[in-house]
Amino acid sequence: MATLGNPKNTIEILNKYSFVFQKRFGQNFLIDEHVLNKIIAAAEITKEDMVLEIGPGIGTMTQYLCENAREVVAVEIDNNLIPILKNDTLAAYDNVTIINEDILKVDIAKLVEEKNGGKPIKVVANLPYYITTPIIMGLFEAHVPIKNITVMVQKEVAQRMQAGPGSKDYGALSLAVQYYAKPYIAANVPENCFMPRPNVGSAVIRLTLYEDAPVKVKDESFMFKLIRASFNQRRKTLVNGLTNAADLSLKKDDVTAALVKMGLSETVRGEALTLAQFAKLADELK
Ligand code: SAM
Repeated sequence: MATLGNPKNTIEILNKYSFVFQKRFGQNFLIDEHVLNKIIAAAEITKEDMVLEIGPGIGTMTQYLCENAREVVAVEIDNNLIPILKNDTLAAYDNVTIINEDILKVDIAKLVEEKNGGKPIKVVANLPYYITTPIIMGLFEAHVPIKNITVMVQKEVAQRMQAGPGSKDYGALSLAVQYYAKPYIAANVPENCFMPRPNVGSAVIRLTLYEDAPVKVKDESFMFKLIRASFNQRRKTLVNGLTNAADLSLKKDDVTAALVKMGLSETVRGEALTLAQFAKLADELK
């Protein structure tokens, strides 16, 4: 079995199977041992853990996970990678299950129930960048029992997930992520750590899920509608942004009154509000 995580053995496997990269699946395989060790350390993987890996590729990170975790489930969409994983790079491990499926179609909560008795798992992935947000938000919104999600994402996306009020990166994604989890950027990863090289910078971010939401709100989905509407029209004041949003049908006077009651200026912009303030505003306007 070839030990992956370096260019030589990666090229050997790709040639052996005449593998053709599929751009549409966001395939950029890791070839740097140092980065792989950083991901395993950031995810705090132990022999107690069940880990879900999204998109194992040729099994590079999966090998590291199999060595460090109790059990690994790897979900890969590309049929051409399955024989490589099963017959070659992961053949020596008896603690891995490979599922040939689109991750967005997998019932992950059911998987956690079957494989881990419903106890929280860890998710680790070098994500296909074209579906980063649907994958992460899907895990949060389905309330899958998860301790942490440690993923390689586009650098700008990691910055947006971690940003706070007042920063140019702060927006709907920051608030959505921070409602469910505490973000921590563990590493910035340059293009030359991948094969082929992506044309964007990357970062490893760990999202540690909260057992209880950090803010209380009566209607979660209404709060997220308010958040989306405020950042849709970033240049406008919050009052205008919210009253222009067709799916909210809010009156200008009501929004102004709510802001004043909260001690905020009538001309405040959405990007100045914290998650707790959005929660309060949602409760005021509901
Ligand atoms: N984990 C490997 C590594 O680090 O070398 C590969 C990472 S590569 C960036 C993303 C992987 O996700 C590819 O193997 C790709 O085929 C797979 N993938 C893309 N879309 C997927 C989906 N919807 N469901 C499951 N896997 C997917």
